[in-house]
Amino acid sequence: MAVVAVLAVLAQLPPQVPTQPKTHHWLTPAAGQSGGVCRATGTAKEHGDIIEIKEWGRGDPLGTEETCATKCGRSSRCKGYEFYSVPKSFSRCEMHAKKPTHIALREGATCKVKGAPMPGFVPLPPLADLGPCLKANLREAHLPGDPEFRAANKCRNRRGDISNPDPVAVARVHSVSEVEAAVQCVVAAGIDACARAGAHGFENDACCSGGVIIDVRDLNALEYDPATGVATAGAGHTWGQLYYKLSQHGRVVPGGTEGGVGVAGLTLGCGRGMLTQWLGLSCDRLRGVEFVDADGKRQLASKDVNPDMLYMAKGGGGNFPGIVTKFEFDTDPVPSSVVSKSCMFGEWDGKRVLKAWTRHMYDMGDSKRQMFSHITSFSNPAHWAFESMCFSCDQSNLDRFHAIVDQINLEASGRRNGDGCHVRDYNGPGGPWLQKLLAEPGVGGGAPEKLAGPPEGGKWAADHGSSKNGAVNVPTYELSDAALDALIDRFHAKPLDLGVYQLMLFIYMLGGDKVESVPVTEGAYGSRRAKWTIHWREFRADNPEVIAHSDSISSALGPHLPCTGFYNYFDTNTPCTRPIPGARSQRDAWLEAVHSDVGKMMAIKGAHDPSHTFRSRLVEGHSLPETHHAGSIAPAIPCGSTSCTVNVLGTLVNGFSCRDHMEYQRSGYKGHMPMNAIAACNVVASMYPPCAPCKPPGLPPQRQSMRLRRLQAVNASASQNLRVDVSFAELPPPLQELVWANRSLLGWEPPHWE
Ligand SMILES: Cc1cc2nc3c(=O)[nH]c(=O)nc-3n(C[C@H](O)[C@H](O)[C@H](O)COP(=O)(O)OP(=O)(O)OC[C@H]3O[C@@H](n4cnc5c(N)ncnc54)[C@H](O)[C@@H]3O)c2cc1C
Repeated sequence: MAVVAVLAVLAQLPPQVPTQPKTHHWLTPAAGQSGGVCRATGTAKEHGDIIEIKEWGRGDPLGTEETCATKCGRSSRCKGYEFYSVPKSFSRCEMHAKKPTHIALREGATCKVKGAPMPGFVPLPPLADLGPCLKANLREAHLPGDPEFRAANKCRNRRGDISNPDPVAVARVHSVSEVEAAVQCVVAAGIDACARAGAHGFENDACCSGGVIIDVRDLNALEYDPATGVATAGAGHTWGQLYYKLSQHGRVVPGGTEGGVGVAGLTLGCGRGMLTQWLGLSCDRLRGVEFVDADGKRQLASKDVNPDMLYMAKGGGGNFPGIVTKFEFDTDPVPSSVVSKSCMFGEWDGKRVLKAWTRHMYDMGDSKRQMFSHITSFSNPAHWAFESMCFSCDQSNLDRFHAIVDQINLEASGRRNGDGCHVRDYNGPGGPWLQKLLAEPGVGGGAPEKLAGPPEGGKWAADHGSSKNGAVNVPTYELSDAALDALIDRFHAKPLDLGVYQLMLFIYMLGGDKVESVPVTEGAYGSRRAKWTIHWREFRADNPEVIAHSDSISSALGPHLPCTGFYNYFDTNTPCTRPIPGARSQRDAWLEAVHSDVGKMMAIKGAHDPSHTFRSRLVEGHSLPETHHAGSIAPAIPCGSTSCTVNVLGTLVNGFSCRDHMEYQRSGYKGHMPMNAIAACNVVASMYPPCAPCKPPGLPPQRQSMRLRRLQAVNASASQNLRVDVSFAELPPPLQELVWANRSLLGWEPPHWE
């Protein structure tokens, strides 16, 4: 109470107090006192008026009330802010679109309403101008309320926690000058932008909640210069389109395997695929890029001009500080033939297959072999397979190819002479390379023009459902028995039996002389030293068990491998990147796991995009405003401690912290709470081992697990918008116990504790 009283006094002080921002006079809401949670009449139930939430980790200099107030002050939409700080843990800023009218008291939080501007403060043009600005300068701009807006703001992954992006606008650009105009509108509105190309990013980063999506898919012109072999491709190409168009010139750029994936996102992440060991990574074929910078101006980057931006284009992924409009690639002759050989194995053969395959990886990665090989494993029906390919191979290369594959087959299964393997020679209409590609996305061949269709047109990319993925790099050719056992154990522990694609493992080579001969300093790519990567993907990821299982794969491999992964596959919440209080933030751990020199990237970002116009994981609290499970969970904090509770309850689910979800429960709004939020908070808590044993008395384990299962079952069958009445007693037990253990911190006594 004493703290509240002090804050109330502080609120009366004039604006020159150091914590007061310089943009506006800040007032306390009429119906309340300082020190609490902002509420606007009629909106508290759903927090529907929050425009944006920023969270900062411990010690982040930006995590102050002043930053929060300045941000709100600059935004024409923001009518008030709530700042909340837990000492030595995290701080958070919520910006409200409706003027807060009253306060729910909470220690450590401040709620302020925007008053008159401070003398001399020049407000940015209001966000209300953004729509007219975009509509005046672009052929296609979609705003909330427009009939096309819902369809326009989608990304591929429909996983529950990331599938409802909430961008302020979608700018579908048709020319570089439209990109320039779009960026200028965004800068004028004082918000941030994300580029979207193929929309296949696993975490839907391109979907930009709170910012503007700049959709480049229509920038898909291709120029090819036969004299130099250089192709200049618009950033909107899908790989299917680029492969098809380049094949008309007899050329190829090594890219990804699936037709619908964007050239932009894949190349910026450095892009591996079937041609990597023969021709190199996509980013290694990059001569330069054209991009629009943070001032909305067209620029070039090459070895000679803006070389630091070329560095960012080679592995910086979604952190590229600009919108790439064109990629300039060195090309190679398109493969004249493709011979593939696939060998199948049973459910229990995984370890032997992996051991035999990795033993021959060095040989297969030699670019002279002109080979590709990977292991795939699906959980239902459970099996292992490895498929290898030989591109444009002459007889001697083909003989060697068959000898390697047969030897792996022999070592893995005892079968001789290619028994159990199937050879296919791709020589159908359209050329062998395109036929192989058509088979790859699962469309089973057909006319090669299919590849050139728009992303929505082809069947391959249409439905990637709701999936959770992950990846771990392996720096050596062979992996210890213990690590292999850990991986295979996770494969057999598949959480549910939900069909053929529920759990998929992909084992890809990342090394080879083509890749390893490029100096690490060439780009931001952080996997140059990796020999291979273990990539997995689980569908039906709206089910908390699936998410927990996916995380358990990285956790199981964690003790055996360094915390590194291939950017294009690396999951936002890879357990080894979770923050360690006082030691490192999740941002730093995550970036270091996927990039070669994070300090250099930050310097480039600071020089080219000082106001953070382009959303990026390089900026703490600036990235990933959408949900991320367990993002702020720290390991090794004692059971029931304050930090444990704060970290779990501070985790964002559907844009709001689990603590906020809890508050709705108790706030007199009849305890309406989305089931998927309950289940997600539950996953957060259950994935946090130190919290799990904190059982309150009187809740035997069987009862907890029955309750958990029931919640999960309801969640699995619930549609996106289902709301179910839930009392506190119905909350997942881990959250109940955390709240109970820290009720004084939360200022709350549960009304109906059982
Ligand atoms: C089905 C499937 C198959 C895949 N196969 C492969 C594979 O074979 N090899 C591989 O390496 N990866 C593969 N991936 C991973 C893929 O490379 C990444 O998900 C990649 O980010 C997708 O790029 P996109 O343009 O489609 O996605 P988006 O979601 O549009 O973009 C991804 C990221 O790049 C940024 N971005 C996009 N365009 C631009 C631009 N013009 N300028 C600046 N930033 C931009 C976005 O803001 C976002 O952060 C696959 C993914 C899926 C879903």
